[in-house]
Amino acid sequence: MMSNARRVTVVGGGISGAACANVLAAAGVQVTLRDRGRRLGGRMASRMLRDTGTAHDGRPVDIGASYFTAREPEFVAQVDQWTAAGVVRPWTDSFHVAGPEGIEGVRSGPMRFAAPRGLRSVVESMIDARVEVRSGDDVTELPSDEPVALCMPVPQARRLDDRIPDSSITWEPVIAVTCVFDERSWPDIDGVFVNDDLVLTWIADDGRRRGDDAPVLVAHVHPVLSAGHLQDPAAVVPQAVAAVRRVLGVVDYPAWVDAHRWTFAKPLTAHPEPYWLSPDGRVGVAGDLWAGGPRVEAAWLSGDALGRALASRMSGAQPSGR
Ligand SMILES: Cc1cc2nc3c(=O)[nH]c(=O)nc-3n(C[C@H](O)[C@H](O)[C@H](O)COP(=O)(O)OP(=O)(O)OC[C@H]3O[C@@H](n4cnc5c(N)ncnc54)[C@H](O)[C@@H]3O)c2cc1C
Repeated sequence: MMSNARRVTVVGGGISGAACANVLAAAGVQVTLRDRGRRLGGRMASRMLRDTGTAHDGRPVDIGASYFTAREPEFVAQVDQWTAAGVVRPWTDSFHVAGPEGIEGVRSGPMRFAAPRGLRSVVESMIDARVEVRSGDDVTELPSDEPVALCMPVPQARRLDDRIPDSSITWEPVIAVTCVFDERSWPDIDGVFVNDDLVLTWIADDGRRRGDDAPVLVAHVHPVLSAGHLQDPAAVVPQAVAAVRRVLGVVDYPAWVDAHRWTFAKPLTAHPEPYWLSPDGRVGVAGDLWAGGPRVEAAWLSGDALGRALASRMSGAQPSGR
């Protein structure tokens, strides 16, 4: 039977918490993964369309991270496994670029990965069966008798333990506006980076992203405009819809629209170190503020590294390299 010395609580069921919990479970540590959300995923969030009055109810839409890339060999290997299992799919290596008045060209870059069932499904399907998952569990106090890994934005982690250093890095807010149309009436695009616009920074074609071609767009509102609407995200919808129609040259209006607020969408910069761990090893913090973030890949690397460090400390060994 395992003693308390081999137990860890991971708070935060986004990709960093999932990666951390998995490594610990694989090392034989008893892990409880607690998240306040009804479902896991964190900012890899997909919401199910309901009551839209269109044919697309029951379909997931990505309202948080748009996609992810993979550079480091260990994350590339993980993505290869997800791809082979059909959990993720290579989406595109080319996005359009636009100015306020319309599309200006195409820009190629690294392969962007998406998930046919929504990015949330990546996190939900990756959890090791040995991890005890408690969702809908808003943690307000840390357990005092076992190590804790806080896998979340630092401003949220500091609400639980104010000894965690405040890096004073600014976190940008984003309001994500989902637009469901009756039919497609825009140019062939996967996604559009919108430059020099006061309303939008990005539009994703969710139908192309998911691979079902549904006429669904998700637009990200400029951080400055988002910051002014965090108390009432719905109030920004008319401006956002007008900007989507202007940038893509769409005549139709969406049949259904929804706005989702991310107060801590992304840190403006990130630490190169993989995680923070208190000197006594009792409290660790991981997420996309570390490992060079602020991206899904960094969050995974950070959670994975913190999990390995905690497991090594508990076994008395030094953290192993890969
Ligand atoms: C709009 C948007 C667009 C983005 N686009 C991209 C992109 O295109 N590519 C990319 O790579 N990355 C993108 N990102 C960033 C990416 O989503 C994050 O880097 C990554 O998902 C962070 O994962 P995480 O596990 O560190 O944190 P999170 O996903 O934020 O997980 C933290 C979890 O902690 C839980 N939690 C917090 N406090 C408590 C508490 N007290 N009790 C219990 N649970 C708690 C939360 O519910 C949450 O589930 C985007 C993010 C947003 C919001």
